[in-house]
Amino acid sequence: MTVTGRFAPSPSGRIHLGNLFCCLLAWLSARSRGGRMVLRIEDLDTARCPARYVVQMIEDLRWLGLDWDEGPLRGGPCPPYWQSRRTKFYQAALERLTERGLVYPCFCTRAELHAASAPHRTDGQTVYPGTCRHLTPEEAARRALTRAPALRLKVDGAERGFTDGHMGAVRGRLDEDCGDFLLRRSDGMFAYQLAGVVDDAAMGVTEVARGADLLDSTLRQLYLYELLDLPAPSFIHAPLLLDSRGRRLSKRDADAGLEVLRDRMTPEEILGRLAYLAGFHPSAAPAPAKALLGEFQWDKVPRQDIPIPAGLFD
Ligand code: GLU
Repeated sequence: MTVTGRFAPSPSGRIHLGNLFCCLLAWLSARSRGGRMVLRIEDLDTARCPARYVVQMIEDLRWLGLDWDEGPLRGGPCPPYWQSRRTKFYQAALERLTERGLVYPCFCTRAELHAASAPHRTDGQTVYPGTCRHLTPEEAARRALTRAPALRLKVDGAERGFTDGHMGAVRGRLDEDCGDFLLRRSDGMFAYQLAGVVDDAAMGVTEVARGADLLDSTLRQLYLYELLDLPAPSFIHAPLLLDSRGRRLSKRDADAGLEVLRDRMTPEEILGRLAYLAGFHPSAAPAPAKALLGEFQWDKVPRQDIPIPAGLFD
């Protein structure tokens, strides 16, 4: 079966080395096995994803030589490739879950959630304690008069697991890991978990390769595939890059953003150094994306997060 991988960036800022590292590995993982790539723009949060970032991100990927077969500029059988324009598909999935009696309105405010959600997990994520799960229909209707509810999915206490293609066996229980999770926010915005699952299934994605910050989301997504009776892709999570202070790179690291790097380096220099950090390129020597196809091996990529050595990109 042909592998179909994907890029699913959220254009809430200019692409940075951390995003790019994951994009490179996702591209190499699919392309090195003759696979296809889909580009989907995850711009559900339209206020945070202005069009100029979307345009710039597409341009950055092209500049780097990380190409795609399906998506913006290419078209394909499953348009549109912008999540902000795919609401009707998420609505349909939400209705299927609602018909199964698995969705309920939640009126908790952010402050209430913060105060009530014990235990806080060590990674700072909170577990929804189920406050609104048992509201009577009358009570929910009364509250809906003054406050638009968010919608949550009921989870169970079953132990679930999967084998990540790079990180190995992952097991957990949704009731302990996150509790009943959001499907739609109170302002009507669909949650990333639901949208990503609906789209990856619709777009025929067979391999989700992405950063390890999303490893935690995977059990929720597998639960959604199960409930919606959709074929689940395989998952493969890449380590994240760390800045000079040992923090995971983020959009606040201006120096790691492509707006700075593009002025200083060629695509080949950036890709060669990222491939070197990933462990499969023998030196930091420049290399175009296509030249890395023959060298790429997941086995050589570390499992722990990777510090960027001083001087490699600055
Ligand atoms: N849009 C998400 C992000 O940029 C990635 C989602 C995914 O790969 O599943 O963090």
